[in-house]
Amino acid sequence: MPVFDHPEYDHHQQIVFGGDPSSGLRAIIAIHDTSRGPALGGLRIYPYASEAEALTDVLRLSRGMTYKSALADLPLGGGKAVIIADPRRDKTPELLRAMGRLVDGLGGAYITAEDSGSSEADMQVIREVTEHVGGLGHDGRSGDPSPFTALGVFSALKSAVRHGLDRTDLDGVRVAIQGVGHVGAHLARHLHDAGARLVLTDVDGVALGRLAEELGAETTAPEAITEADVDVFAPCAMGAALTPMVSDRLKARVVCGAANNQLAAPGVADQLRARGILYTPDYVANAGGVIEIAWQRRADYRREDVMAHIEGIGATVDEIFRRADRDDLSPALVADELARERFGSAR
Ligand code: NAD
Repeated sequence: MPVFDHPEYDHHQQIVFGGDPSSGLRAIIAIHDTSRGPALGGLRIYPYASEAEALTDVLRLSRGMTYKSALADLPLGGGKAVIIADPRRDKTPELLRAMGRLVDGLGGAYITAEDSGSSEADMQVIREVTEHVGGLGHDGRSGDPSPFTALGVFSALKSAVRHGLDRTDLDGVRVAIQGVGHVGAHLARHLHDAGARLVLTDVDGVALGRLAEELGAETTAPEAITEADVDVFAPCAMGAALTPMVSDRLKARVVCGAANNQLAAPGVADQLRARGILYTPDYVANAGGVIEIAWQRRADYRREDVMAHIEGIGATVDEIFRRADRDDLSPALVADELARERFGSAR
C-alpha cells in the first residue's frame, strides 16, 4: 500500500497508524496541515473493505478539512481519523479509549470530533483519556452541529440565489431538498420561514411525511428529485449526488446544499458552469458546524459572535462567485484557489 506515492497524499504532514490488539483497534489518523492551527476533523468508524480503502478515505477527508477551515477563516488545520470497524458491532468503550490514547499521543496536533459512525456519547468516552476532543457542546448544550451547519447552508444559498437568480429574497423561490435528515430538516424550516416553496425527498418515508406535513411542502420520490422543476437544488443526503448524468438533466439554475463531496467527478463543476448552473462549493456552504466547534474552544464564546461568523459564509460565497465570474472559472476551482492562498500563506 503506497503512502508517499498515494494519489491522495498531497503533502500530508503526518499519518499515524495505530493498533491495539486487546480492544481490536485498527485506526489511521491523517494530519494534512497545521499551519493555521491544530488539525481538527471527525472520527469516522466504518467497516472498510481494506486498509487501502480506509487510507484513501482518511487522506481525502483530512485534506478537505484543511480547505474547509481555511475558507471558514478558522485558526485550525485539517485532519481526520478512521477506525476500521463496524460501529454497530465492534464499537466498545475499550476500543474508543484505545483510540483516545492514540489521539492523546499526538499532543494536540489532531483534535477529534464526531463523524459518521461515531456519536457525541462516543466522544465523551474518548474524552476520559484525552482532552483533544471537540464538539462536545458549549455550556452543557448538545454538541449536535447540524443546526449550525444548516444556518451556514442557508446563508450560502441566499448568496447563490442573489448571484444565480438575481433575486434578493427567497419568497416563492422553489427549492428541492435531497435528504431531510439532521441538516436537511433544519434547512427546510429556514427556507419555509423565508417564503420558499419546497419539494422534499428522503429514502425514509416516515421522516419525510412528517416534515412535509409540518411545512406544507410537496414531496417526490428519491430518484425524481434531481429533475424536479425548481430554481435551487440542495443536496443534503450522501456524497457524489452530482454525477455527469444528473448535471445534464438538472432543471435548477442553482445548486447549494450540505452534503460533502457533491461533485462525483472534477469535470462536473465545468459541466454545470457550461449549462449556466451556479454551483456553490460544498465545503464552503457546510462549514457552519465546524465554525461552532472552533468557537467552543474559545473562552470568549458568545452565541451572537458564532452566528455572525456562520452568516459570514454568505460573504465568502459572494467573493467566490465574483472571482469565478471575473476569471471565467468554476466556483469549485476558485474556492480551492482561495483556500490554498489562505493556508499556503500560513505555511
Ligand atoms: P443525516 O444522516 O441526518 O441525513 C441524511 C438524510 O438523507 C437521511 O434522512 C437519509 O435517510 C437521507 N438519504 C440517504 N440517501 C438518500 C437518497 N438516496 N435520497 C434521498 N435521501 C437520502 O445526515 P446529516 O447530518 O443531515 O448530513 C447530511 C449531509 O451533510 C451528509 O453528506 C453530511 O456528510 C453533510 N454534512 C453534515 C454536517 C452536520 O453538521 N451534520 C456538517 C457538514 C456536512
